[in-house]
Amino acid sequence: MSDRINVGVLGATGTVGQRFVQLLDGHPWFEVAFVAASARSVGQRYADACAWKLPTPMPEAVKDLVVVEPTPEAVDARVVFSGLTSDAAERVEPDFAQAGRAVISNASSYRMAPDVPLLIPEINTDHIGLIETQRQGRDWPGFIVTNPNCSTIALCLALAPLESQFGIEQILATTLQAISGAGYPGVPSLDILGNLVPNIPKEEAKMESETKKIFGQLMGSQIEPHEMTLSVTTTRVPVVEGHTESVSLTLTGDPTVDDVRSALESYRSRPQELELPSAPCHPVVVTDDPNRPQPRLDSDVEAGMATIVGRLRPCPILGVKFVLLGHNTIRGAAGASVLNAELLHQRGVLP
Ligand code: NAP
Repeated sequence: MSDRINVGVLGATGTVGQRFVQLLDGHPWFEVAFVAASARSVGQRYADACAWKLPTPMPEAVKDLVVVEPTPEAVDARVVFSGLTSDAAERVEPDFAQAGRAVISNASSYRMAPDVPLLIPEINTDHIGLIETQRQGRDWPGFIVTNPNCSTIALCLALAPLESQFGIEQILATTLQAISGAGYPGVPSLDILGNLVPNIPKEEAKMESETKKIFGQLMGSQIEPHEMTLSVTTTRVPVVEGHTESVSLTLTGDPTVDDVRSALESYRSRPQELELPSAPCHPVVVTDDPNRPQPRLDSDVEAGMATIVGRLRPCPILGVKFVLLGHNTIRGAAGASVLNAELLHQRGVLP
């Protein structure tokens, strides 16, 4: 019998849910035992309910699982990964925490709740301390831990070494986000093919507020947000997977481009020290090729778990600028949640 922890995947038939199923296949610590989705899918075999869109085959172990409704009664696992839409997550995730389960969520519903960790294991492991505040304040035996929005996490990984070595004052960022970031079937082809959509509803506010929370200080039972100034524009482009971002920033002390490069290249943090199973060896990868990073060529670097930084150069207005790329459904979503769960397991926090 396997001694892996049985887990459930909520929203298992969706874009992020499929990534969960793929990434958890053969995982050394976790095993998918329950798949849950909407009433559309409940009662069907996973293989019949799910329009599998990943290039690797659907794992054999999940094909015959019967899709259940996302309730603690139907999903009898002490750890659940949530790839639910935000409205479903808002209703459902507290029921699991109330039932004593650990909810490792990818949805936006509780990311900015003051008592919910918005966790990136490389950056803010101390924010795990909010779990106790959450349990006491809400009288929950379980808890919810979230990971950031897909564009936020790619940006924050590149910012982390710069914040710790220099300090971040101002950021100006424009994203070019893949269509898979909108779920399936996502943006209509007639809106996106040969085109660019210069707005993604609520995305800019998420990137600005989440980044400040992630780099915020845990003061007692709450997070004091970082004081950096951010100005973000988010756009959707006809790319299947991989979010690109053009970033200019002002760093304290005005370091040279070489100093910035060296900080990015040498960056390692807790997941690397702990050798967590999904941790990238290099959370930030720097390329000197003037034509990289490109989503089609570079999204899978470090198995999709790193931020790739290229076109590093001086910015005559803010100080330094670069282009970054992150895999939106791996490090930007399911892979981030799996790494969060690995850290919580290593810390002995999972129920
Ligand atoms: P998606 O492809 O539309 O999948 C949504 C999933 O939620 C499906 O499994 C769907 O089940 C289920 N669902 C929908 N309504 C439900 C309900 N009322 N009750 C129970 N289950 C319900 O969306 P996605 O792109 O995977 O996104 C999932 C979440 O991750 C969202 O909160 C999104 O904001 C976030 N996110 C997405 C990305 C990305 O790159 N796509 C990145 C970061 C964060 P059925 O198949 O049965 O309808």
